[in-house]
Amino acid sequence: MHRAHLALGSNVGDRGDAIRDAVDQLASLEATRILGRSRLLVTKAVGGPAGQPDFLNAAVLVDTGLEPHALLDAVHGIEQTHGRPRDRQGEERWGPRTLDIDIVFFADVVLCDSRLTLPHPRAAQREFVLRPIADLAPEYLHPVEGRTVAELLDDLAHVDVRGGESA
Ligand code: ATP
Ligand code: CA
Ligand code: CA
Repeated sequence: MHRAHLALGSNVGDRGDAIRDAVDQLASLEATRILGRSRLLVTKAVGGPAGQPDFLNAAVLVDTGLEPHALLDAVHGIEQTHGRPRDRQGEERWGPRTLDIDIVFFADVVLCDSRLTLPHPRAAQREFVLRPIADLAPEYLHPVEGRTVAELLDDLAHVDVRGGESA
C-alpha cells in the first residue's frame, strides 16, 4: 500500500457537496481507503481570471494499492463525473471548476513525466494546499523541499505577495 495526500478544490455549484461526494468516490476506488480528511477551507482564487468565486478546499490522506498513474486516471475519472472536461475546451487555466483533485504527495515518490509530477510542483507555494494537509500530517516531510508541511506553511507566512521576504 502507498500513502498519498490529495488536494481537492471546487468553486462552482454546490462546492461542499462536490467535495464530500468526491471523498466518497475516492473511498470506493479499488484497493483504496481514506485514512483522514481535513476540515473544509474557504480560500480566494489564486491566478486565473479576475473575479472568480472563492474556492472550497480540502485534503484527504489515503492508503492505496494503485500506482501513481493509475491513481491519476482515477482522479480524472472522478473529476469527469463532476462535469470537469479534460480537454480544456471551454476551460481557462486556473479558471473556475466544479472539482479539481491534485495528487500532492505519493509516498515519497519524486517523478516528472508528461502526465504526472510528484510531489505536485506548486504545492509548496500554496497555502490552500498546505493548510488542509497540515490538518492531517503537519510533520510530513516534502521529499524535494526537505521541509515539513508545517515548516512550508510557516515559510509562506514570511514571504509577501511580491515574493520578497518580510521582516
Ligand atoms: P495546477 O496543477 O497548477 O493546480 P490545475 O489543477 O488547474 O493546475 P489541471 O488542468 O487540473 O491543472 O491539470 C493539468 C494536468 O496536470 C493534468 O492533466 C495532469 O496530467 C497534470 N498533473 C501533473 N502532475 C499532477 C499531479 N501531481 N496531480 C494532478 N495532476 C497532475
Ligand atoms: Ca490544482
Ligand atoms: Ca488538477
